Amino acid sequence: MTSTAEKPIGFLDLARQQEEIGPNLRTRIDAVMKHCRFVMGPEVTELEARLAAYAGAAACVGVSSGTDAIQIVLMAEGVGAGDAVFLPAFTYTATAEVPLVLGATPVFVDVDPHTFQIDPASLRARIAHVRAQGKLRPRAIIGVDLFGQPAPWPELRAIATAEDMFLMADCAQSFGASLSGRKLGREAAATTLSFFPSKPLGAYGDAGAILTDDPERAELYRSLRSHGEGKTRYEVLRTGMNARLDTLQAAVLLAKMDIFDHDLKRRGEIARAYDAGVAQRVVPPARVPDSESAWAIYSVLARDTQDRAALQEQMKARNVASAVYYPMPLHLQPAYRPHHDGVSLPVSEDLSHRILALPLHSVLTDHDVARVVAAVCGA
Ligand SMILES: *Cc1c(COP(=O)(O)O)cnc(C)c1O
Repeated sequence: MTSTAEKPIGFLDLARQQEEIGPNLRTRIDAVMKHCRFVMGPEVTELEARLAAYAGAAACVGVSSGTDAIQIVLMAEGVGAGDAVFLPAFTYTATAEVPLVLGATPVFVDVDPHTFQIDPASLRARIAHVRAQGKLRPRAIIGVDLFGQPAPWPELRAIATAEDMFLMADCAQSFGASLSGRKLGREAAATTLSFFPSKPLGAYGDAGAILTDDPERAELYRSLRSHGEGKTRYEVLRTGMNARLDTLQAAVLLAKMDIFDHDLKRRGEIARAYDAGVAQRVVPPARVPDSESAWAIYSVLARDTQDRAALQEQMKARNVASAVYYPMPLHLQPAYRPHHDGVSLPVSEDLSHRILALPLHSVLTDHDVARVVAAVCGA
């Protein structure tokens, strides 16, 4: 029997994870405190090599956040005024904000109702629409691996090639996931990662990275993250950013890399337990075929908004947290509505009313998992 007297199950439990990595984390942080190379210290290079090897990519460039990673990638392609950048309407705001910061226009694409990933048919229709209007140049596609599952990469690559557009991967939620037995990180010309604390591989502050197999792009990204510098620090080749990865964050991430595969395995186990446990009450997330998710977020579907509110109340009464990713699709957000062409994106709109995320992190015990299931089912 569960009771409200049991301690709360939070959406995340970073303190408990910290206990697991304890001594290694201390050693890593102490090393940085000793050498004091807080910007571009040796841990940054070590982490870059480790991340590249993990994903099987030729190069990794550590940066200050997942958002800055996207900005650097699009800056390197010269994306700007007059360019249309296609991206899913159902994603985190960062994906859409960057094109606007660069003077380009985000064009929102609908998603699949079952996997929540960008819908290739909608993408084709949106590109055709923009071409027919003739005002913007279709320039880039940002595929997002939503919630940790892979976007439909083979189809996105085929569309990008046919339309002569740049394809990049926003892998902020999916580092560690795989498609057809291969780790994500090489599905597009550039892949961006986020190590925001709540992501599957999270730092203790903001951090991110870019993966690429192209040595020229890697060199450009290194220059752009550091004020557009050339071979020496005071040679300025281009307009860049101050978007380097902190040494301390790299040290934290190196400690976390040691337990990352173990964490991913546990996330997968919990997701399978939820699938089996909650299906009688809600719709569990459909799987992208031939893939392994990183399970950044485990989202189920309620019948409608009222049903979702009732579920959240029921879970709260049992001391179990839940969260809504995302309560509003981006094309309806006040910041983006003026840039949207008014087309309705019915799947994204419907999902925003029904979706609900359950707590899923690697330090949940089997007892916690059973409590979450019971809270969802009203048992
Ligand atoms: C978290 C996230 C980002 C942004 O990452 P930050 O490190 O927070 O800047 C971008 N895209 C998606 C899909 C995300 O989930």
